[in-house]
Amino acid sequence: MRLVVTGAAGFLGSHLTDRLLAEGHGVVGIDSLITGTRRNLAHLREESRFTFLEQDVSEPIEIEGEVDGVLHFASPASPVDYLRFPIQTLEAGALGTRNALGLARARGARLLLASTSEVYGDPLVHPQSESYWGNVNPIGPRSVYDEAKRFAEAITMAYHREFGVDTRIVRIFNTYGPRMRPDDGRVVSNFIVQALRGEPLTVYGDGSQSRSFCFVSDLVEGIWRLFNADIHEPVNLGNPGEYTIRELSDLVLAATGSASAVEERPLPTDDPRVRCPDISQAAARLDWAPRIPLEDGLRRTVEYFRENRPSARPGAAPG
Ligand code: NAD
Ligand code: UDP
Repeated sequence: MRLVVTGAAGFLGSHLTDRLLAEGHGVVGIDSLITGTRRNLAHLREESRFTFLEQDVSEPIEIEGEVDGVLHFASPASPVDYLRFPIQTLEAGALGTRNALGLARARGARLLLASTSEVYGDPLVHPQSESYWGNVNPIGPRSVYDEAKRFAEAITMAYHREFGVDTRIVRIFNTYGPRMRPDDGRVVSNFIVQALRGEPLTVYGDGSQSRSFCFVSDLVEGIWRLFNADIHEPVNLGNPGEYTIRELSDLVLAATGSASAVEERPLPTDDPRVRCPDISQAAARLDWAPRIPLEDGLRRTVEYFRENRPSARPGAAPG
């Protein structure tokens, strides 16, 4: 197949591109480089089955030749990034998704949308299953991301119902691993970079809020299975192992051997209190479950930052 990956120079898009190439397909990677970097694709310079186009998908997407699938991952994704680029984030979710769907429709291609656990907002149901409609503040600072992704899901379902486009929606829960941008402000990269620099780990609030962290290779496996399954409703993918942010700071200190202190900072507005995926749909319909325990995934991520980003700095707090 010839597959288009939007957001290919990002953390997830670049790993997904590697997997699609490993499956024997051709990949056209599109990225505006707003939060991504060519560094994530540098190893593909000699790969004849890979083409890179620097384009903003919120503008009409121009691609020549056959397209069999579109995997739409382009969007700022970390709270620091989407609060820095609020309009671009809304546009990527709305115009970008419409353009990606338009491309899929025009070429008779399948489309997979990268949605997010943020559609559940600050959830009142725990763990979150796909049937939960969420608790999102529609005008808060995070709404530029949450509502853009909710719109993206809505227009994806509408293109499926109205035009018969063969669509998939994955709701991705917090995923981490090599190629995260060290300064994108997400908790795993921040803690690792801070620990390696011997700086205090910045815990927002009292650190009692929870997240569930999935290693990138597990996520990519789930995405590939979903792409190949006949499921049009959203499917959660994530690791149901749930940790408080305090517990995560201890694990990062252990994985790095760092003697850094842990310091509390203000909790960002509307920061979800808890988050944990119910993955029973993915288990039953994709026969998928994550395999990499958090300790192992952190070790691999620490190795990446140590070897590839020795002078990296962490991201600031959102806002
Ligand atoms: P990332 O910032 O590393 O990658 C996003 C990529 O999209 C970047 O390379 C960026 O330059 C590109 N991009 C953004 N807007 C664009 C536009 N208008 N046109 C072209 N390119 C554009 O983030 P990521 O973690 O790899 O996230 C990828 C996707 O997965 C996003 O859609 C995000 O919402 C979704 N997601 C990620 C997570 C996670 O934990 N990593 C969780 C839920 C959802
Ligand atoms: N967080 C933190 N310190 C940091 C970065 C993030 O305590 O340096 C917290 C953040 O407030 C949230 C959790 O870690 O409760 C996960 O944040 P992240 O930005 O990784 O992703 P989110 O799940 O909020 O999108």
